[in-house]
Parts: sequence; structure tokens; C-alpha cells
Amino acid sequence: TTQSPILADSKGVAGVKGTDSERTFIMIKPDGVQRGLIGKIINRFEERGYKLVALKTVAPSKEMAERHYADLKNKPFFPSLVEYMSNGAAPVVWEGSDVIRQGRAMLGATSPLDAASGTLRGQYCVSIGRNAIHGSDSFESAEKEIGMWFPQAGELISWTPAIWNWVMS
Ligand code: ADP
Repeated sequence: TTQSPILADSKGVAGVKGTDSERTFIMIKPDGVQRGLIGKIINRFEERGYKLVALKTVAPSKEMAERHYADLKNKPFFPSLVEYMSNGAAPVVWEGSDVIRQGRAMLGATSPLDAASGTLRGQYCVSIGRNAIHGSDSFESAEKEIGMWFPQAGELISWTPAIWNWVMS
């Protein structure tokens, strides 16, 4: 994958694991977009204190959706998952301490039945096939997913929030 020039000094697009430069890939899925939940989901990460470093909308090709969910290709719901994803999504990259694990915790369990009520899925979703958001489940996934959804140099921004030291230190 093409790396942004701003990351030339780090290992890759997901920053450095275990530091406050760690990054995760979050994607508001088509049901989240069409229900008007983009702002609410973004807001939850902003208010938590994480730093937004990339954001866009995209109509994923079948190939992109298949690549993103390649691990699930033998599941019976794979074709419908790929079809659903092609409706349009909003990929986002967040940066900050422990953002991969804490981002997953903010999403809640995959199945809304198991998602705690304070989580995004617990608050907004009732169906496993319409669970509104994706989040990287490991550093390796974050590296792969940020690279595939934001492949161009210059798509990730580098900046220091004024309150950063009061949030991450
Ligand atoms: P997560 O999104 O929490 O990482 P998985 O990687 O297991 O979960 O699954 C990816 C996505 O596939 C889920 O978010 C969900 O949209 C869909 N999915 C998972 N299990 C099912 C299922 N049993 N039926 C329909 N869709 C499913």
C-alpha cells in the first residue's frame, strides 16, 4: 500500500502500537449512513478525545467489499454482506492511546443482542446484519484496512490538538 509522506518515520499507516500515535479504522456502514448516524458516531469518538485523521464517503466496489471482509468469505451471509456494503459507507481513521481496543469497546459486540446498552451498537442497532459500524479488531487489521481504504498519499492528516496532553498523557 502507498503510505502517506507524513508517516515516513513510523512503521506504517496504523502508527505505532501501544503509543498515542496508534490508529484504528472505523467505517460507518450503509445502514449507519442512511439512518443519518454519521455525525453521532463521529461525535462519540471526538468527545472521547480521539483525533480524527481521515474521513470520506465511498461507494465500495464488490471487490473492495470482498477484500475488506475476506476473512468471512466462507460464511453463508458473505454474499449479502458484500451486496449491502456496496450501498455506500463512510471510512474514518482515529488516532490515540489504545484506540484499537477502546474503539472496539465503544462499538460493542457484533450482535446487538450482546452489545451493552451504552455502546454504539447497543444504542442504535437491533440486527447483526445491520450493525451500523465496523472497527478494526487488531493492529494488523488496522494496518491493512487503513491502507486499503485510504491508499493515496495525503489522505491522512497530521495535527496536534491543543488539548492533546490533557487527554492522552
Ligand atoms: P465485527 O464487525 O464485530 O468485527 P465480524 O468480523 O464477525 O464482526 O463480522 C463482520 C460483519 O459481518 C458484522 O459486523 C456483521 O455486519 C456481519 N455479520 C456477522 N455475523 C453475521 C450473521 N450471523 N448474519 C449476518 N451478518 C453477519
